[in-house]
Amino acid sequence: MTRWHDRLTIVEGDITRQHVDAIVNAANEELRRGGGVCGAIHAAAGPALERECRQLGFCGTGEAVSTRGYDLPCKLVIHTVGPIWGVGAGEREDELLASCYRESIRLAADRGADTIAFPSISTGIYGFPIERAAGVALAAIRAGLQDNPEIREVRLVCWSKGDLAVYQAALGRALRDEDPPAAS
Ligand code: ADP
Repeated sequence: MTRWHDRLTIVEGDITRQHVDAIVNAANEELRRGGGVCGAIHAAAGPALERECRQLGFCGTGEAVSTRGYDLPCKLVIHTVGPIWGVGAGEREDELLASCYRESIRLAADRGADTIAFPSISTGIYGFPIERAAGVALAAIRAGLQDNPEIREVRLVCWSKGDLAVYQAALGRALRDEDPPAAS
């Protein structure tokens, strides 16, 4: 039996260069071309992506919508809107961030995409503290993988070595909590 984390990879890199079925965009509710990873995805996909986003028009925080990938190496872009840190009281942001990961995985599965790459949602311009976000993200990815057995790989693509170390440490903690060492 495969364990959930056998279907998870954590890498340092550029999400626009990932050869997967779907990549996830850290979008804004208006689905406008922004800065950060969103700007990089639009630049690599070409202007047709912006036109499709304009037609869709809106995506609520914690939800996900999909478009084609255009000039990107992936078939699909899943746009999800992470919470802005500091608008709620912490727990609400955790729930919304978890929803981004779970809804994106569900949508990828619905669209027949079985490999999906995520950036670190909300931890850039939206200001979510990355240590906390990493724990929330991994718990949500675990649930998403368990609910959607057809997904073969979730790849977390970290933009820096520092971010990579944070996600790797969070995975180590999650696995230790799941399977604590036997008491001697
Ligand atoms: P948000 O508004 O959700 O905080 P940002 O785009 O500001 O989204 O940042 C999300 C994360 O994506 C940040 O950790 C940022 O460093 C990272 N990032 C920026 N460009 C890329 C890229 N090309 N590939 C992967 N991650 C990226």
